[in-house]
Amino acid sequence: PSEPIRLEDRIRDIQDFPQKGVLFKDITPLLQDAAAFRAAMDRMAAHYAGAGIEVVVGVESRGFIFGAPLAYLLNCGFVPVRKFGKLPSETVSVEYALEYGTNIVEVHKDAIKPGQRVLIVDDLLATGGTVSAAMELVEKLGGHIAGIAFLVELSFLKGREHLKGHDVFALIKY
Ligand code: IMP
Repeated sequence: PSEPIRLEDRIRDIQDFPQKGVLFKDITPLLQDAAAFRAAMDRMAAHYAGAGIEVVVGVESRGFIFGAPLAYLLNCGFVPVRKFGKLPSETVSVEYALEYGTNIVEVHKDAIKPGQRVLIVDDLLATGGTVSAAMELVEKLGGHIAGIAFLVELSFLKGREHLKGHDVFALIKY
């Protein structure tokens, strides 16, 4: 039998992107490797088997790449959290701080029903600012955050500390 796929071998380091001094984790080698992408999705889905997840929320835009197949595997609906101005129907929105300036994310008002068990998904956890905004949106709609999932967690940035009290899961940790 072949060795289990090491997902971390499919993550590439890019020095000085998007700006000088930043070491960027590039997930595209994993995506383009069929066996690695499948293993990542299967492992994520296995972690939530029996967790009673009803809705998967994906954070634009790389959260969509993992959120949609996860929703499919968990037999759930998928809800996109999008950048300001992209969603056509009535929305709720949250503004959050970036390193420079602010960003606004939105979700459709009718996308989550009060009490629904929601799993929030993004590609990578850094400081936790992005996913915290998505959590606020889910809470505004009365959803229950049953889990928060990432492909990659940059543990040294301590983003997890902003997500206290929640079930946080990452397939790959640095
Ligand atoms: P945070 O809000 O600081 O946790 O940053 C996480 C968000 O920024 C996620 O939506 C990621 O897609 C993106 N991000 C930050 N750093 C990286 C990286 O090194 N590789 C890929 N995406 C990143």
